[in-house]
Amino acid sequence: MPVYKAPVEDVMFLLNDVFPIERYNNLPGFADATPDTVEAILAEGAKLCEEVFAPLNLSGDQEGCTRNPDGSVTTPKGFKEAYEAYSTGGWMGLAAPEEYGGQGLPSVLNTIMQEFVSSSNLALGMYPGLTQGAIAALIEHGTEEQKQIYLPKMTEGTWTGTMNLTEPHCGTDLGMLKTKAVPNGDGSYAISGTKIFISAGDHDMAENIVHLVLARIEGAPAGTKGISLFVVPKVLVNEDGSLGERNGVSCGSLEHKMGIHGNATCVMNYDGAKGWLVGQENRGLNAMFVMMNEARLAVGVQGLAQSEVAYQNAVAYAKDRLQGRSLTGAKYPDKPADPIIVHPDVRRTLMSIKAFNEAGRALIVWTGLNSDIAHRSSDDTQRQTAEDYMGLMTPVVKGVLTDLGFDNAVKAQQMFGGHGYIEEWGMSQFVRDARITQIYEGANGIQAMDLVGRKLGKDGGRAVMTFFNEVGAFCQENAGDESLKAYIAPLQQGLGHLQQATMWFMQNAMAKPDNAGAGATDYMHLFGTVVMGYMWAKMAKAAQTRKAEGNGVADKMDAKLLTGRFFMERMMPETATRLARITTGADTTMALPVEAF
Ligand SMILES: Cc1cc2nc3c(=O)[nH]c(=O)nc-3n(C[C@H](O)[C@H](O)[C@H](O)COP(=O)(O)OP(=O)(O)OC[C@H]3O[C@@H](n4cnc5c(N)ncnc54)[C@H](O)[C@@H]3O)c2cc1C
Repeated sequence: MPVYKAPVEDVMFLLNDVFPIERYNNLPGFADATPDTVEAILAEGAKLCEEVFAPLNLSGDQEGCTRNPDGSVTTPKGFKEAYEAYSTGGWMGLAAPEEYGGQGLPSVLNTIMQEFVSSSNLALGMYPGLTQGAIAALIEHGTEEQKQIYLPKMTEGTWTGTMNLTEPHCGTDLGMLKTKAVPNGDGSYAISGTKIFISAGDHDMAENIVHLVLARIEGAPAGTKGISLFVVPKVLVNEDGSLGERNGVSCGSLEHKMGIHGNATCVMNYDGAKGWLVGQENRGLNAMFVMMNEARLAVGVQGLAQSEVAYQNAVAYAKDRLQGRSLTGAKYPDKPADPIIVHPDVRRTLMSIKAFNEAGRALIVWTGLNSDIAHRSSDDTQRQTAEDYMGLMTPVVKGVLTDLGFDNAVKAQQMFGGHGYIEEWGMSQFVRDARITQIYEGANGIQAMDLVGRKLGKDGGRAVMTFFNEVGAFCQENAGDESLKAYIAPLQQGLGHLQQATMWFMQNAMAKPDNAGAGATDYMHLFGTVVMGYMWAKMAKAAQTRKAEGNGVADKMDAKLLTGRFFMERMMPETATRLARITTGADTTMALPVEAF
């Protein structure tokens, strides 16, 4: 049975020492989030994930979801009860506004909880995860009436949410979508069409499911400018808030897929289902982007989460599995062989996953805090900077944390040799589950294009310049600190490569857009490496300070500092290769005629 322990201590280091949460207590909801309260909340969340969610991961994978002859969907044994424990524990509304029944706590706590949930059971965690995204979209774009009808039930978890974009002929290119909406004359619309790949589209965990559906109102312009967003409940809601008739939406079939078997991926048939417009007519993509951006960040967290749980299992195995002797002589001469953790190649693998996990966690905490500032600050300048940051980092968090999350799940599986390939160890599941994170919520190639094509140039490059200035200033401030030299010098070099790549795009991609397309994925990863390097430099500084305070944490802080040095020595140098690739342009990539492939 795979193991999982939520990294509460590591999170508390981030929230106490690296990005002290107390600094933000002028923001609504933060005054209640004292370090002690935060630690108690996260310890409770960890318990739920370790004791309730994690034990259902392997069995949920093996059993999967079932579509019954009447079209209803049953989730794997134990999922319903686990979901109930999550919702009655108040986790759904942890950061939701109090006026809709939430607790109004900082959303960064929810982001951290998402990591624990996704490590312990990715498939199960998607049901509440999508609901939280739908809540965010309704808060921002729903009418007051819609908010009153749906939000309290969704916040308490009795109703869940979904997002319905994809159709058989269109995934990335939503401008082609065909689902139509015809006005019923009473303010509602009749929605008809087929959506595919709808996560949590139907299940047995909640009384009602609130579908957010993209559709085209009759006569609307073609392309993305004619798409509107609708709220379509599975069961219609009576005026007094009670549940009424079944709406004309059903799950036509379940997809048989590579991983996340415990999550119902549905073909959803809309047969004149009653729906209500959310936000403005023909501005549906804009409204749906609230949910998509939330989901993209949550998917990045899923990538990190799979890397973390796979790592924990690989470490346990590497300490236990006896094979061969250490290159420097037997370390456990009383045993028939040494545990494989003595071998440098095994260490290299484990260190590279560990160095990623800790930097990735810092990145999601930093991003979570920026999300709180963007949504809660009353200071316009502060809010704008945080919004810029969120725009810039969303594709990086989604694309980089999921690409590396999958790579790391594979690396961790490799530690098991042949046993990693055998299902009962659970490593194969981590690989299979992690794979989807690179695909859904906009495939990673699309994230890279979003970064290069939209985010870099937005507002005259304001966001990227602010980021460069922040990292540059940090390097300058700490350049004279001998104890940080091993972190600052490589970070400065990586930042230089990123700036050169950005400049190269400015000079070479306008006239020749293929140069941007061919270099986008390398740029996204170059960006990710520099951001993670910045996270490591900040963690190293905080660890030095903690160590100097001499409060019995020297060993832990030494481990932090060492892991950070590994990152700087073994991972940061990738920025040079990325830059070299980007600046070769698109010529060889695009030269072959299609027939030559
Ligand atoms: C398990 C699962 C769950 C899902 N859950 C949901 C859900 O809940 N709701 C929902 O609406 N959808 C969901 N999806 C759909 C998912 O978001 C899409 O599959 C994804 O966005 C890609 O769309 P597509 O499959 O049509 O691929 P395509 O759009 O056909 O893309 C194929 C490939 O071409 C590349 N490509 C396409 N266009 C470009 C371009 N312009 N430039 C560069 N490269 C390009 C892509 O990067 C990709 O690698 C889910 C999918 C799966 C498999």
